[in-house]
Amino acid sequence: MKIQALNTWITKDKEALVVAGPCGAETREQVLETAKGLARIPQVKLFRAGIWKPRTRPNSFEGVGEEGLKWLNEVQQQYKLKTTVEVANAQHVELALKYKVDVLWIGARTTVNPFSVQEIADAVKGVDIPVMIKNPIHADLHLWIGALERLNNAGITKLAAIHRGFHFAGKSKYRNKPMWEIAIELKTLFPDLPIICDPSHIGGKRDLIEPIAQKALNLGMNGLMIETHPHPEKALSDAAQQITPIELSDLLGRLIFPDTQSSDVEFSNKLKSLRSMIDEVDDELINLLAKRLQIIEEIALYKKDQNITVFQLERWQEILRTRSQWAEKLGVSRHHIEKICQILHEESIRVQNEAINKKTI
Ligand code: PEP
Ligand code: MN
Repeated sequence: MKIQALNTWITKDKEALVVAGPCGAETREQVLETAKGLARIPQVKLFRAGIWKPRTRPNSFEGVGEEGLKWLNEVQQQYKLKTTVEVANAQHVELALKYKVDVLWIGARTTVNPFSVQEIADAVKGVDIPVMIKNPIHADLHLWIGALERLNNAGITKLAAIHRGFHFAGKSKYRNKPMWEIAIELKTLFPDLPIICDPSHIGGKRDLIEPIAQKALNLGMNGLMIETHPHPEKALSDAAQQITPIELSDLLGRLIFPDTQSSDVEFSNKLKSLRSMIDEVDDELINLLAKRLQIIEEIALYKKDQNITVFQLERWQEILRTRSQWAEKLGVSRHHIEKICQILHEESIRVQNEAINKKTI
């Protein structure tokens, strides 16, 4: 993918992009009041507002439609903020372009559907407008990448991904589980692609916005999208997760925005030496794993000779119990070691089966 850095379309070099504004545009007054508050916050460069709201059930607030785009024009003129709206079909794109919205975004419910994404891609073909794509509702990285590629193939190079968490059927403190590893993998595959975190939709609650936002920044994400409303509790959608512009300003003041890179020589030397220590430890770990696997093969053949099953429940329980006890004594988290034991055990079963089969053939 050919992607242009955020600073070619909206921020200064390396500066994190802060997108803020209401979940939905409700009234002209609400939109302008929010924009007035946000215009005072220097980090906020882009004003968001849902004009067409995708709702789970009909007869809830489904957005104000075209009328709201006129209010966004006032935001651009009066407060010098750039604007962004969610588009879910070609008609939305057409209207957004007609009213000179600066940036488009594709919502999580749309990213799941390649037909809709292609329709949007066809509608923006030949237009130089930035497009931000939210992750699909469910944890399918390829669907997310596919949507980015469809827009890229249509000639859009000012692209960003928005990480808004994933639907999770089990219990979770989040509205949408962050599954950071998916965002990290996307960054690894496309290092030039800016990723903006949406802590409002991940958390679903005001209190969770700050810790999620900080975590995203610590992981090197390139910006934040935070829902903001002058009277959050009265919002017609997503009332529990919106904050006021003043609260946003305070929150941005508390957040630490770490650099992803440093030009400081002392810092890079120190980091280099610490990393070489990690390299040595990892080398040792891999040697130990190889040694472990050798013993496992020996055990497999011995079990076969004695006609004993590969899987031994009691031994597995003992491994889990003792290793987590050993780990805890050293201050290593029990959960971490249990996960590692699971992986080791899986590999041990695989290697034992392979060793036995080899011998039989
Ligand atoms: C939104 O940003 O208000 C929205 C509908 O988000 P998502 O597509 O992430 O659910
Ligand atoms: Mn919302």
